[in-house]
Amino acid sequence: MLRLQGLVDSDNARGAAGQRQEIARRITNAVADALPVAKLDVRPHVTLRHTTRVFDLPKRWITEDDLAEAKREQATYLARYEALQDRPLTDVERSRCFGRQRWYGGVVTRHAVQETEPVLPMEAHILRVGDVVFATNQFELYLDYGIRMKARSKAVQTFVVQLAGPGTYLPSARSVAGGSYGSLPASNHVGAEGGDLLVEETLRAIRELFPEKESMADSPFQITTIGTGAVRVNPRRGGPCHLVEANGQRILVDCGRAAVHHLGQAGIPPESIDAVCLTHLHFDHVCDLPLLALLGWNNGRETGLRIIGPTGTGRFLHHAIEETYADDIASRLAHGKDPAGLRWSTTEIQADGLCHQAGPLAVSCAHTPHAGLRNLNFRFDLDGRSVVITSDTNLTPELVELCRSADLLVCECSGTQEFLASVPWGSWHMNPNTVAQLAREAGVGRVLLAHLVVEDWSADPDISEKMAAAVRQSFAGPVAISTDGGQQKVC
Ligand SMILES: [Zn+2]
Ligand SMILES: [Zn+2]
Repeated sequence: MLRLQGLVDSDNARGAAGQRQEIARRITNAVADALPVAKLDVRPHVTLRHTTRVFDLPKRWITEDDLAEAKREQATYLARYEALQDRPLTDVERSRCFGRQRWYGGVVTRHAVQETEPVLPMEAHILRVGDVVFATNQFELYLDYGIRMKARSKAVQTFVVQLAGPGTYLPSARSVAGGSYGSLPASNHVGAEGGDLLVEETLRAIRELFPEKESMADSPFQITTIGTGAVRVNPRRGGPCHLVEANGQRILVDCGRAAVHHLGQAGIPPESIDAVCLTHLHFDHVCDLPLLALLGWNNGRETGLRIIGPTGTGRFLHHAIEETYADDIASRLAHGKDPAGLRWSTTEIQADGLCHQAGPLAVSCAHTPHAGLRNLNFRFDLDGRSVVITSDTNLTPELVELCRSADLLVCECSGTQEFLASVPWGSWHMNPNTVAQLAREAGVGRVLLAHLVVEDWSADPDISEKMAAAVRQSFAGPVAISTDGGQQKVC
């Protein structure tokens, strides 16, 4: 092959430079092959974690037979080495004999200390970059070990980095039984028992670098307020968007201005969202939804979003995505994008009650008046805990019922009573008095204020805090102001 490529002169030539050139050619070809595909899945936020471990691996036990053979071989090679004393130090056979007697001598030395020093401490580095892991060890492994690590690793791809230290072969039980060169006692300090432990300890360390699932099990129910502003551009607050993480599901309530960007800042890629609940079709609540759907598709999501919303949601999605981006979608399909990742499913809510169930997680909703639109408020129940996220709304008995005994109420509070009385759309919204009345009558545990429109109009930097204080005057539970990216455990 190298000769045909002109990298060496003949079949017999070792051609070190030519071999290096061939390795370089294969690397560049692999990069050129993978790059166009990798470019379609650029991830700006990846987890980077590193851990260092010392594994105490049991040393291979030297039997009396092993010892006797090693002493015999050592003596033989030592005698031959001494017989060649008249040859120069660079003589190949003399060097070989010297090396072999030392090699067997190592077995004798190890036997002498195996009772007092039974383990070999081995430093391992485990590095996680996103869903890829690099795991080091100091050995030259028989294939079984690396394959077992890769097959059982939590990472999508696991690179086992060998010879990262003073390495020897690490034989498998099968290779010891077969008696090959690399499995002889002189060739390795650690045997199959230590190899099994290396696999298990490496896998344990890898598992500990992927804590999300475990922490999800510990605390499976939390809210992240992704956007806590409203229509106008407020540099500190994006448009309405809340992330509910429950039972391994990621569900958004609304997807307003800058939601996708703020999700990115929170380390949440668009393709990881399972479902979106839309409260109503005011643009400040839905304007980032086309971006969420298209970017998630672009990033490689395999199934489309589940979208739950009021009557008209299907028409909105058709116009805002399928019609508006028809040319873009066609061009991506033409270069082989799988349409399944964009094919969302829509549920238009006609009646109050249960609207989505994912295992033990139940999502229910209630209509309330807002600006003459079909308008939904959502409640999430999981294992006896609950959160309600309101839409822009008026206070109604249906809303009180939806919020009944909820642990957390994330409630819109667009402004003070005076402010809302001064604007033509003020009657569409909640103020501190109605928020407190809702929280009190429903008996909720605590309140988080969102949709803070008044901040965009007021010159008073403390206006939101003043609203929270006003709610506290007639509601005894905790009341807080939401912030973009703020996280709340539901408990
Ligand atoms: Zn709004
Ligand atoms: Zn609205």
